Amino acid sequence: MSYDIAVLGGGPAGMAAATEAAQRGARVVLLEESAAPGGQVYRAPPSGFIGPVDADRRAGDALRAALLASGAELRTGCRVWGVGGGPLVPQREPAAPFRLDALDSDGRSFAMEARALVLCCGTHERIIAFPGWTLPGVLGLAAATILLKAHGVLPGRRVVVAGAGPLLYAVAAKLLKAGAEVAAVVDLAHRTEWLRALPRLAARPDLLAQGLAWRATLVARGVRVIAGAGVTAARGDEVLQAVQVEGAWIACDALCIGHGLVPATEATRTFRAAHRYAPAEGGWVPVLDADQRCSVPLLYTAGDGAGVRGAAAAPASGRVAALAALHDLGLLPDHAAARVAPARDLARAAKAGGAMARMMALRPALVRAIPPETIVCRCEGVTRAEIEAACADGAADMNQMKQFTRCGMGPCQGRICGETAAELVGMHCGGREKAGFATGRLPLRPVPMDALLGEFDYADIPVPKPAPI
Ligand SMILES: Cc1cc2nc3c(=O)[nH]c(=O)nc-3n(C[C@H](O)[C@H](O)[C@H](O)COP(=O)(O)OP(=O)(O)OC[C@H]3O[C@@H](n4cnc5c(N)ncnc54)[C@H](O)[C@@H]3O)c2cc1C
Repeated sequence: MSYDIAVLGGGPAGMAAATEAAQRGARVVLLEESAAPGGQVYRAPPSGFIGPVDADRRAGDALRAALLASGAELRTGCRVWGVGGGPLVPQREPAAPFRLDALDSDGRSFAMEARALVLCCGTHERIIAFPGWTLPGVLGLAAATILLKAHGVLPGRRVVVAGAGPLLYAVAAKLLKAGAEVAAVVDLAHRTEWLRALPRLAARPDLLAQGLAWRATLVARGVRVIAGAGVTAARGDEVLQAVQVEGAWIACDALCIGHGLVPATEATRTFRAAHRYAPAEGGWVPVLDADQRCSVPLLYTAGDGAGVRGAAAAPASGRVAALAALHDLGLLPDHAAARVAPARDLARAAKAGGAMARMMALRPALVRAIPPETIVCRCEGVTRAEIEAACADGAADMNQMKQFTRCGMGPCQGRICGETAAELVGMHCGGREKAGFATGRLPLRPVPMDALLGEFDYADIPVPKPAPI
C-alpha cells in the first residue's frame, strides 16, 4: 500500500492534517491506535455508550465528520510500532519512501509506504515520583480524563486532584459532575502565577470562560483549593488511603495527579531529526520551520507532539503541516495563499496555549525533593539512589544511565520515568541539554513477539553447515 501522505495519530492535529491533504486531492492514510479518531481531548465514546454531549464532544464530532467526508483512508485500531524508510535507508542508497509497520485490531502485522509523513502523536503525561506514587489508586490526571470519557468510570469515590495546569480544574469539575466527591484540589501554581498568565489567556476568551466556569463549579460545591502546594506522599495498605499535603494527611481512595505534558517524540527521535530542549513547550521538541517541517526532508510534525500548545492550536498546526507536505510533493501550486488562514489561527491559539504550557512546565524542585529510596522507573524498579549512583560511577547522559541501570527499558520505554530520570541525570552532568534524551528505538509501542515473528518452521531456518575441522 503506497500513499502520498501518511498521518500518524488521529487527534485534532492528525484529523485536520489528513482532512486538509485529502480534500486537496492527495492519497492520504491516517493511522490511529484507538478505535475511533479524536485523540485525547476529543476521545470518542465507545460505540453504544451515550456520553454527555458537551463542547469537546461537538468539536470532536465536527473534526471526525470532516475527516470521514474528505476521502482520506482511515485505519483505526492500528498500533504503529515501526517507522522507517525515508532517511533511515543505508548510506549511499537512494532515498526511499517512509515505511510504517503496524498491528491491526486483530493483532495482524502490516506495513505501508508514503512519500511524506506527518507525525501527530500528541503527548505523554508527566508524573514526578514521590513516596507512594506506585500505590493502586494513584493515577495520572490526564489518565483520569480517559477513564471518564472513554469508559464513564470514576477513578474513586473520594478523590484528591493535584498537580499543575488547566487539566487540574477540568478533571475536578468533570469528577464532580460524574458524581465523585472531590476532597481537595492541590495546585502547584500560586494565584499570582494564574494572574500573570491571564493577559495571554485572553487571546482565547472561550477557553478563559471555560476555565472560569470550572473554578466556579468548585467554589459552588465548596471544594477546597490549596494553591502553591503539592502532594508530598501517598500511603495505604495495598491501596491508596490518604495523601500528604503541607504536612497534613487527606483521606481519599483516588489521587489524580499530573505535573504537565511532554511531547511524544519517539518517532522524530527514531528518525534522528534535530531536537531542541524547550521547557516552556514541554521538554525536548523537534526543530521545525514555520511550516512544521522537521530537519528530515518530507517529515513534518504537528499538534502537541511538536511542542505543547493545547487542543485549540492542534488542528491549525495539522493544516499548516499538511499544506507544506502537499507543496513539497508538488501537489499544491498556491501554497503561500493556502497557508495564510491556518497560520493565523495557529498564531492566535498558540498564544493562549503557550501560557498554559508554561504553567505545566517541569518544576525542578519536585525532582530535588524525591527521597533517595523512591522508585523512579516502576517498570524496572529503579530508585533515585540507583540513578544517582550510576551518575557517580560515570554515566554522563541518558543513554549511559539507561545502560547502567535499565531505567526506561521496561514496557513504557521511559514515557513515565524519562522526565524525572533526565532531570536527575541533568543535576549531575550540567543540565538537561547535556543529559540529552534516550535514542529513539523500535518498537514505538509494546508489541507481542509472535506478531513480529509471524508463522515459521524451525526446519526452514537456514543453518550454515559446520565449518570443516
Ligand atoms: C492522557 C491525556 C489526556 C488529555 N486530556 C485532555 C482533556 O481532557 N482536555 C484537554 O484540553 N486536553 C487534554 N489533553 C491534552 C490534549 O491531548 C492536547 O492538547 C490535544 O489533544 C493535542 O492534540 P494532538 O492531536 O496533538 O494529540 P492527541 O490528541 O494526543 O492525539 C494523538 C493521537 O496519536 C495517537 N498515536 C500516538 N502514537 C501512536 C502510534 N504509535 N500508533 C497509533 N496511534 C498513535 C494517539 O492514540 C492519539 O489519539 C490530554 C493529554 C493526555 C496525554
